[in-house]
Amino acid sequence: MRLSRYFLPVLKETPSEAQIVSHRLMLRAGMIRQQAAGIYSWLPLGYRVLRRIEQIVHQEQERAGHIPLLMPTLQPADLWRESGRYDDYGQEMLRIQDRHKRDLLYGPTNEEMITDIFRAHVGSYKDLPLTLYHIQWKFRDEIRPRFGVMRGREFLMKDGYNFDVDREAALHAYNRHMVSYLRTYERMGLTAIPMRAASGPIGGDNTHEFLVLAQTGESEVFYDDRVTALKLGTRKVDFDNRAEVAAICEEFTSLYARTDETHDPALFDAIPETHRKVGRGIEVGQIFYFGTKYSEAMGATVATADGRRVPVEMGSHGIGVSRLLGAIIEASHDDKGIIWPEGVTPFHAGIVNLKQGDSAADAACDGLYAALAAKGLSALYDDRDERAGAKFATMDLIGLPWRITVGPRGLQKGVVELTCRRTGDSEEMSPEAAVDRLGRIYADW
Ligand code: ATP
Ligand code: MG
Repeated sequence: MRLSRYFLPVLKETPSEAQIVSHRLMLRAGMIRQQAAGIYSWLPLGYRVLRRIEQIVHQEQERAGHIPLLMPTLQPADLWRESGRYDDYGQEMLRIQDRHKRDLLYGPTNEEMITDIFRAHVGSYKDLPLTLYHIQWKFRDEIRPRFGVMRGREFLMKDGYNFDVDREAALHAYNRHMVSYLRTYERMGLTAIPMRAASGPIGGDNTHEFLVLAQTGESEVFYDDRVTALKLGTRKVDFDNRAEVAAICEEFTSLYARTDETHDPALFDAIPETHRKVGRGIEVGQIFYFGTKYSEAMGATVATADGRRVPVEMGSHGIGVSRLLGAIIEASHDDKGIIWPEGVTPFHAGIVNLKQGDSAADAACDGLYAALAAKGLSALYDDRDERAGAKFATMDLIGLPWRITVGPRGLQKGVVELTCRRTGDSEEMSPEAAVDRLGRIYADW
C-alpha cells in the first residue's frame, strides 16, 4: 500500500479523552473513531489488525476441531424467556421492538440461540462431540464504557459452544478450549495466564479467565510468577487425546494464579516469597463448563448409546477479539508509539523513501515493494513528499515491527537500512538481503 493513496488519519495531538495508553495510541494512529459512547468505527489500519486477530482465532479454533458458523446480532426475546435470562440479564441487555411489536434484543452472548439450533438438528450421541463457534458483534450496555475498545458497548467476540454426551466429554472440550486459547494468545505475542474465576451470569462451576498482565488492567491478580515463563510454543497437540490435552492444562494451571474474585490468601502465602506477585490484568477470554443449565431449560436432549434421552452437556468459551487490540498495545508499546508483534501487525514492513522523486530511490522502493509482495509480505510504502523525521515518526507511531529505509546515499553503496522497531537496531544490507531476512523472520509466524 502506498501511503499517499491510503487513508491513515493520524493525529498530532494527544486526545484528551483517552485515559490509557492503548486508547490514546489507537486514536493517534488513526485506527478507530468513536461514534457514540463505547461504539467505534474501525478505520483501515485498525480494521487490518482486527482481521488478523480474527484470522488467528479462526485458525486455532479449526485446528482444535471446532466448526465456524454465523448467528445474527439480533435475537428474539422468546428464546431468552425460555432460559429465564430475559428478565435476569438486566440493563446491560439492549432491548428492541420491531414494527410488529415483537421483542428483540441485540445479543450480548449466544447460549440460547445455539441451544435452539442444536435441539432443532441434533438428536443422537452419534453426532457428538460437536463444538460450534462464531465471531460476531455483541452489545452490552455497559454502565461505564471506557478505555476505548477495551470496554466497549458494541464489541467483537469469538464465542464457542460445545455439546457432549457426558460430563467427561464436556470437560475434555473445556480442556481443548484452554489449550487452543493458549496457542491463540501466544501467536499474538501475548502471555495470557489462565486463572480460576467466578462464574457470573453465564453460570457453571468450572471456569477460567485468561489474563494479560498490565498495570491498566481492571482485575487485581495474584500469582506465582513462574507461571509467566510457561510456553506452549509450536508443540504438536493431538486434540482428540484426552490425556495429552488434560496434561497441558495441568501444566498451565497448577501454579497459583487467581483474580480477586477467587483469591485464597492461605494458598497464596504458601508460594515462596520471591515468586509471590500481586498485579493487574486484562481479561482477554474466558471458558466455562456449565453442564445442562441451558439444555434442561430449553429441552435440548440426545439419545445415548443405551437408548436413554439425556440433556446434552455444554460449555461456552469466549475471546474478546476487539479488546485484544487494546491488550496487545498495553503490553507492547513505547513512548513513540505502538510496537506490533509480528503475528498481528497490519503490514509486515514499512518502506521509507528518504528522497521522494529521486529516480534511484523511487525505483529501489518499488523493487522492494514488489519483492516483498512476491514473498507474501505486505508493505506500507511512505511515498509522501515529507521530511525523513516526519516519516519515521509516523512509522514509529503505527508500530510496524520492521522498517526499510531507502536513500540515494545508501544506494550508491548498494545498501538500504533494515530497522527493528522493538530494539531500534539498524543494519545496512542489500535490498535483496533485507527481503530475504524479512522472509525468514515471518516464516516463524
Ligand atoms: P468483563 O468481566 O470484562 O466485563 P465478562 O466476563 O463479562 O467481561 P465474557 O462474557 O466472559 O465477559 O465475554 C468473553 C470475553 O469478551 C471477555 O473475556 C472479554 O475479553 C470480552 N469482553 C467482554 N465484555 C467486553 C466489553 N464490554 N468490551 C470489549 N470486550 C469485552
Ligand atoms: Mg468473563
